[in-house]
Amino acid sequence: MAYFRSNIEAAAGYVPGFQPENPDVVKLNTNENPYPPSPKVLEALAAIDPEKLRRYPRPLGDEFRKSAAAVLDVKPENIICTNGGDDLLTICLRSFCDGGRPLVYASPTYTLYRVLAQIQDCRVIEVPFTDKGGLQTEQLASQNAGMVIVCNPNAPTGAFIPPAQIEELAQKLNGRSVLLVDEAYVDFAEDNCVSLVKKYNNVIILRSMSKGYSLAGIRFGFGIADESLISGMLKVKDSYNVDTLAQTAANAAIQDRQYFKKNVAGIIEQREWLAQQLRGLGFDVPQSSTNFLFVKPAGGDAETIYKKLCDKNIYVRYFSDPEISERLRITVGTARQNEKLIEALKNIL
Ligand SMILES: *Cc1c(COP(=O)(O)O)cnc(C)c1O
Repeated sequence: MAYFRSNIEAAAGYVPGFQPENPDVVKLNTNENPYPPSPKVLEALAAIDPEKLRRYPRPLGDEFRKSAAAVLDVKPENIICTNGGDDLLTICLRSFCDGGRPLVYASPTYTLYRVLAQIQDCRVIEVPFTDKGGLQTEQLASQNAGMVIVCNPNAPTGAFIPPAQIEELAQKLNGRSVLLVDEAYVDFAEDNCVSLVKKYNNVIILRSMSKGYSLAGIRFGFGIADESLISGMLKVKDSYNVDTLAQTAANAAIQDRQYFKKNVAGIIEQREWLAQQLRGLGFDVPQSSTNFLFVKPAGGDAETIYKKLCDKNIYVRYFSDPEISERLRITVGTARQNEKLIEALKNIL
């Protein structure tokens, strides 16, 4: 097609996880939260004034900014609301990277980073984690990057890097490159990097309402950073990038701290149960700080197990990329779903 820019023509595009039409399957393939969102979300949506739908949404999501700032102990001006965390990634690529300023990230990780870089037509430099799962700080810091990304906890591995290591990287990059810490799964981890935003004006934290808040269907995420970075990024975002329904739902969700804590605690409890069961079946199950497990069957044939699970209407994620093709990424489900998975695996093995 002569119509497309050559980089778009050459790009494969992002392939989202399979979304089965039948709702009666055990769906553990895209890291959605298996529990419903807070009842306060549904109340807020039901109570919405039609006048709010007639008008354009608040361009900056002021109410959400205030609520999130209070929860995170930052200022509303430190927050940018986005149409899912993915929209923040797009805004950052467009803000910081170009032909001369590559995107650099620790890998293996979220494959969308590479796809967005292709669209932006900037180079990608992937820096592998060390054998022990740490960052190659020097390598990451010495590439004249427009932006460096560390996904923490990482997907698809589930591993968590201590904030002190990330701070070292922030320090090395300061004054030269932006460091984005993708904390989409941090709600399930023991610590986070928000405090770095107050010390380093080059750090951006990505958050999502899709995982810890059970709101993948409404598309809401946000970034946390120094005011100077946020105000620049606001120039790049679409004028009305977050709709009124999403703002209303996200604001109700983040304010209901009690529900959030209960939801996350339930996932963590199930995660540990599932990990133990899988280990009992001979799987290698590394420690996870997320709502999924990245597991390797003893026999090694992840793809066959994946296909046999599909036949039983149980969906997990299999990646054919050679460096991770020995493993399956399994989202932590409800107690019932996890039991069904274990029963099915016992049959298959
Ligand atoms: C889920 C996810 C995001 C953001 O997802 P949204 O649904 O767009 O908020 C970002 N990074 C990673 C690694 C994710 O898994």
